[in-house]
Amino acid sequence: RKKEGFMRVTFSGLERAELVDYIDSDKLTMAKIQPLSNIAGDEIEELALVKRVATEFESVASTTASFPPEVISQLTKGVSAVVLADQFAQYFPLSLDKKQQLLETLNVNERLMLIISELEKEKELSRVESSINEKVKERIEEGQREYYLREKMRAIKEELGDVANVADDTQELREMIEKNPYPEHVKQKALEELARYEMLPSSSGEASVVRTYLDWLLKTPWYGMTQDNDDLILVQDRLNQDHYGLEKVKDRIMEYLAVKQMTNSLRSPILCLVGPPGVGKTSLGKSIARSLDRKFVKVSLGGVKDESEIRGHRRTYLGSMPGRIIQGMKKSGVINPVFLIDEIDKLGSDYKGDPSSAMLEVLDPEQNSLFSDHYLEEPYDLSHVMFIATANYLEDIPAALRDRLEIIQLSSYTEVEKVKIAENHLIAKQRVMNGLKEKQFKLEENELYYLIRHYTREAGVRQLERVIASLCRKAVLAILKENKKTIKVTKKLILEWLGKEMFEYGQKEKKNQIGVVTGLAYTSFGGDVLPVEVTYFEGNGKFIVTGQLGDVMKESTSIALDYIKSNAKKYKIDPKFFDKHDIHIHVPEGAVPKDGPSAGVTLTTALVSAITGTPVYSDLAMTGEVTLRGHVLAIGGLREKSLAAHRVGIKKVIIPKSNLKDLDEIPETVKNDITFIPVESMEQVLKEALV
Ligand code: ADP
Repeated sequence: RKKEGFMRVTFSGLERAELVDYIDSDKLTMAKIQPLSNIAGDEIEELALVKRVATEFESVASTTASFPPEVISQLTKGVSAVVLADQFAQYFPLSLDKKQQLLETLNVNERLMLIISELEKEKELSRVESSINEKVKERIEEGQREYYLREKMRAIKEELGDVANVADDTQELREMIEKNPYPEHVKQKALEELARYEMLPSSSGEASVVRTYLDWLLKTPWYGMTQDNDDLILVQDRLNQDHYGLEKVKDRIMEYLAVKQMTNSLRSPILCLVGPPGVGKTSLGKSIARSLDRKFVKVSLGGVKDESEIRGHRRTYLGSMPGRIIQGMKKSGVINPVFLIDEIDKLGSDYKGDPSSAMLEVLDPEQNSLFSDHYLEEPYDLSHVMFIATANYLEDIPAALRDRLEIIQLSSYTEVEKVKIAENHLIAKQRVMNGLKEKQFKLEENELYYLIRHYTREAGVRQLERVIASLCRKAVLAILKENKKTIKVTKKLILEWLGKEMFEYGQKEKKNQIGVVTGLAYTSFGGDVLPVEVTYFEGNGKFIVTGQLGDVMKESTSIALDYIKSNAKKYKIDPKFFDKHDIHIHVPEGAVPKDGPSAGVTLTTALVSAITGTPVYSDLAMTGEVTLRGHVLAIGGLREKSLAAHRVGIKKVIIPKSNLKDLDEIPETVKNDITFIPVESMEQVLKEALV
C-alpha cells in the first residue's frame, strides 16, 4: 500500500515450507522452497489433545492474563487443530528455538503435545512465582515495608524532579521527634504531620505550610525548664540591687514569691503592676526573672483587638501563625519563664472577637494548663509560667481580667526619688552602655534637679534616662575628640549640649487671673495639671465646650452651670445674665483625652470667677466632684495629682474632705511644700479660691 511516499508491506504465513536453495540475482536474494504439509495423526487422539490444550490454556490465561483477547476468542470458537496449534505458537511467549521447533513439527498431534507441555511449564512457573511472592510478603515486616515504601516514594519523587531534599529534612525531623521527650500527643501529631509532609511534593505550597507548622510544633517548648532560685534572701538582694525605693512594691513581690514557694504552686493570682509609664514596671518584671534565675519574655498587648492575635490563626489561613502567647513561649525556649504581659489595659475588642476572654484563659490557673492555640491545635500547658501583667490605668483593665489579678500599684516618683534613682542606677547604667569609666563622667545632684525640671516632664524616669544617655554620648565624643580626661556636667554644658530648656519649671499661672483655674487630672500618664478657661460674650444663652473632653467631663460642665444658675443669687449674679450671654469653656492641651468627674470644682470655680469677674489665686490647684446641690465628693489618684501639682510649683491644693485619709500616701517632700485644704461644699471652695 502506498501512502505519502511510504511503502508498507504485510507478510502472512500461508503454509510450511523447506528451504531448498538460494538464488542470487544482482538486486535481491530469492529462495527456492519445497512446501511441506501437516501430517495428521489419530483423530480421536487429536480431539482429546485439542480439548486438553483448551482447558490448560484457560487456567494459564486466568493466572498470567497476558494473552490478547482475540486469541482467547479464537480458542473458544472451535477452530481446526492446525490453526489452534499455529495461533498458539504465534502468541504464546516462547523462545525463538521453541517456536522454530513448533514450526518444524509436522505431525499435528505431536505439535499439540509440545504446546501442552509448554502450557504445563507456564502453569508451574506461575504457581512457584506466586508462592515466592507469598513468602516474600510474609517476610517483609511492618518496618521493612515502610522502608520499602519510603524508598519507593523517594524514587518516585526523584523521578518527578523533586530533589531529594525531602529525604534529608524528613529524616532530621523524624529524629527530632523520636529523640526528644515531647508529650505523647505532640509526638503523635508531629508524626502524622510528618507523614503528610512526606506525601507532598516539596515544591508545593502546602508542603511549606506543613513544614512551617512542624517547625512551630517542635520548637515550641514542651519540656525544658530552669531551676528556680529559692533562696529568698538572695532574691530580695537582687531586687534591691536593680531598683531604688519601691519598698512597698518589693515587699509585696517578696510576699507573693514566698507564698508561691510555700504552697509550691502557681495557682495564686497573677501579679499586675499598675502605674504610669517609666516607673519601672517592665524592669521590675525583668528583675523578678533575674532574681529567680528564670528566663524572661515580654509581649505587648497594646492595640490588640483580635482574639487571634492571642490565640493564633487557624492553619487554613495563608501565612497563619500561633498567637503571641505561644510566640513568647517559643522565644523563651522553656516552659517556665517569667512572662510579662505589657499594657494589658490597652487590650481592645471588636467584631473579630474579644481578646480579653482569650487572655482570661491564659491567666486563669484553673484553665491555663490546657491553653488552646488555634494554630498549634494541641493543648499547651501554661501552668509553669509565671505571668506578670502591667497596666497604666487600673480602670481600663477589662473587669473580668481584673478579678484574676493581684494588683500592685506603682506611682509617680517625686523629684527627690528621681534624683536618687538617677544617682544610684541610671547614671551608672548609661556610663556602662557608653563605655565611660566612673571618673570620666560626673553628673551631680544640682544638675540632676535642673535636668528633671527643665528637660523632662513625666511621672517616671524614662525621659530622664534618655537625657542622661544623650549627655553620656556627648561626653564620649568630647573625650575622644578634645582629649578631655573627665567631663563634669554643669548647667552651662547642659545648655550647650541639650539646647535650651524644654520645660518651664512651675508652669502655674504667674498672676491671679479671672476665669482661669488650675485643675488636677489623673491620666494613664500619671498626674497632670489641667487648666480650665472660661469666657463669655453677648449672645443668647449658648453653652460651648471645647478641648478633648470625655462624656463624664461634659456632664460635669452642665452640672457646674446648673449649680451656678440655681445659686445665682448667692453669688450675686444677675439671673438674666445667662439669657443674654454665650458661655465658652475650654480645657487646653486637647491632645490628651481627659475624663472623669473630678474636674467639677475646677469648672464651677472657673465659671463663677469669669461671670463675677473675680480673679482666682494663681498658686492654687483643686480637684473634686460636685453634685447639683454643691456637695464636694471624693476623687481618686490624689497622690499622682499632688505630685503633678508639686512638679509645677503649686502651693495650695483644695481637696475633698473625704480624701483626707489619702494624705498618708503623699510623700513628705510634697507635704512640706503644699498646703492641702479639705472642703465639703462648693461655697468653701469658692471662699478659698477667689481673691
Ligand atoms: P515602665 O515599664 O513602667 O514603663 P520601665 O520599666 O521601662 O518602665 O522603666 C524605665 C526605666 O527606668 C528603666 O530603665 C528602669 O530600669 C528605670 N527605673 C524605673 N524605676 C526605677 C527604680 N526605682 N530604680 C531604678 N531604675 C528604675
